[in-house]
Amino acid sequence: MTQTVISIVCPCFNEQEVIHTFTDKITGIMSATDFSYELLFVNDGSKDNTLSVLHELAAKNTHIRVLNLSRNFGKEAALTAGLDHAKGEVIIPIDADLQDPPELIHDFLREWQKGYDVVVAKRIDRSSDTLAKKITASLFYKFHNSIADVEIPDNVGDFRLITRRVVQAIQLLPENQRFMKGIFSWVGFKTSVVEYARQPRAAGESSFNGWRLWNFALEGITSFSTAPLRVWLYLGVFISTIAFVFGSAIILKTLMFGVDLPGYASLLTIVLFFGGMQLIGLGVMGEYIGRLYMESKRRPVYILENDSAATDTENNNNDK
Ligand code: UDP
Ligand code: MG
Repeated sequence: MTQTVISIVCPCFNEQEVIHTFTDKITGIMSATDFSYELLFVNDGSKDNTLSVLHELAAKNTHIRVLNLSRNFGKEAALTAGLDHAKGEVIIPIDADLQDPPELIHDFLREWQKGYDVVVAKRIDRSSDTLAKKITASLFYKFHNSIADVEIPDNVGDFRLITRRVVQAIQLLPENQRFMKGIFSWVGFKTSVVEYARQPRAAGESSFNGWRLWNFALEGITSFSTAPLRVWLYLGVFISTIAFVFGSAIILKTLMFGVDLPGYASLLTIVLFFGGMQLIGLGVMGEYIGRLYMESKRRPVYILENDSAATDTENNNNDK
């Protein structure tokens, strides 16, 4: 038995149907390794019986710990709570729905033993996703990576292995709007990639619909790039230059040939066009200002319903 503790961190929102299967699978896999481990569930304000199912499991299995958030804070916050309270030397965030195949944990551990601080799982087959999700996901990665400061590897989710020092680096990032994919990439460290095929959900349903995914994408882009803000400067200079040339031509023409009235259609088109452009520019600024405003409140990322788990972590850090 080694000292090392592996923490499997699993955020759960309305996952009552799948938790038993998930736990059985993880338990099977982890008991086949030599490492001591904990399975840390974060209940993210589930509306179903997830919490009582988790408590039942924890009562029977000493490897299981449960954190309960005071309401639904979203997956990013739940994951942050899990990272903050995990005791392990190595932390593996994983979804409850078995879309991230737990068998991969063996590969993660093998890579970690080779000396990697981060082992990510790359989906090579997304056939379980809808066509729309595949297309929008691919567009998002392309757009994000072309404008953001850090590149998010294509088709890599939160399912990964990170060591304690990576977690400590992540905890240095003070922002409370947490786009974890970006944060994981931003901190860097020596990374290895393991490939896998994405499974369909084992049970229950996805809580990410189109609108939520759109907002998630906006979050990702605005968190790691200011290009959408700066592009207006260049667009403005470009359009003003054209307007100046066009205006000079009209003035010259009027001076040489006198006034002529037609031009209503082109005038209206230009007015509408610039009206639209200005609104878009303002809208983009609004996105960033909104985020600045939220960030400036310095609210905590999540609230635990009952803080005993937090003190528990501080007092017993090395007891496993
Ligand atoms: N999740 C969460 N809080 C939320 C939404 C989701 O903790 O507000 C968890 C969920 O229980 C699951 C993981 O995040 O373990 C991924 O969610 P989901 O399967 O709905 O997303 P998808 O796989 O469709 O991207
Ligand atoms: Mg899922």
